[in-house]
Amino acid sequence: RGKKAFIAGVADDQGFGWAIAKQLAEAGAEISLGVWVPALNIFESSYRRGKFDANRKLANGSLLEFAHIYPMDAVFDTPEDVPPEIAENKRYAGNEGYTVSEAAEKLARDVGKIDILVHSLANGPEVQKPLLETSRRGYLAALSASSYSLISMLQRFGPLLNPGGAVISLTYLAGARVIPGYGGGMSSAKAALESDTKVLAFEAGRKWNVRVNTISAGPLGSRAAKAIGFIDDMIKYSYENAPIQKELSAYEIGSVAAFLCSPLASAVTGHVMYVDNGLNTMGLAL
Ligand code: NAD
Repeated sequence: RGKKAFIAGVADDQGFGWAIAKQLAEAGAEISLGVWVPALNIFESSYRRGKFDANRKLANGSLLEFAHIYPMDAVFDTPEDVPPEIAENKRYAGNEGYTVSEAAEKLARDVGKIDILVHSLANGPEVQKPLLETSRRGYLAALSASSYSLISMLQRFGPLLNPGGAVISLTYLAGARVIPGYGGGMSSAKAALESDTKVLAFEAGRKWNVRVNTISAGPLGSRAAKAIGFIDDMIKYSYENAPIQKELSAYEIGSVAAFLCSPLASAVTGHVMYVDNGLNTMGLAL
């Protein structure tokens, strides 16, 4: 039986979410997506116009397809959480049922049970500000979009996971070590995500017999990373200082995600897996 996956955090073919979708599809999984509402129109039209076709080719010659594409905003759990200024915003109006609970209800209706849940999203409105200059509002927004969103998703999608299923998220070294420039509480959000991975692995393991892991990825020039502003420097730094001197491909993260979600990793849970050419191990750059 082919596995079924739901991936939140794909809005183009440049980020980790896309690469994970592709590697899971290579392994035979059926993929459904939750796409951030403001990015949905452009994603769907680009997809239809063939803009992603070069990156859709699978090894067997077929093209990556998505079973379902749902609008989702991971900062809202239920319809009551959506403030009027969002509901009436022109990028949200016309979309329905985009809170986490409603996206899970749609997936349950259309797909039923799933095997794999992927959280590949983050947002920190003040990411360019040092922590010392971050507002309470910006800090809490970073935690809401980037950390609590995993808890919210597991609460609602967890009951859809088959026993033996797997959950993964994406984290960054800045949650464990100081990375100047990764501000706005995003470092705090990744620290929370890594700690929550352990607690959720315990709770969801006991409750549904599913595994929860996070991948700490090296730098990639995705759309989100470009918004931070220093990604080219980070890629160069990694190239110069990591044990393996090569640029990181998003598909390398996709492959490890496929492994972590497969029975090959049936005893791996609560783990922070570094996929970064080994950069995290270095104490002194040479
Ligand atoms: P990306 O831009 O491809 O993905 C981020 C996605 O999050 C986008 O699709 C965006 O639409 C979505 N998103 C933002 N706010 C949302 C919300 N409220 N609800 C639903 N979706 C929302 O960039 P990426 O770099 O592939 O990011 C994916 C994950 O990888 C993030 O958790 C990021 O922190 C992590 N990561 C990235 C790097 C890097 O260097 N790019 C390194 C380590 C970890």
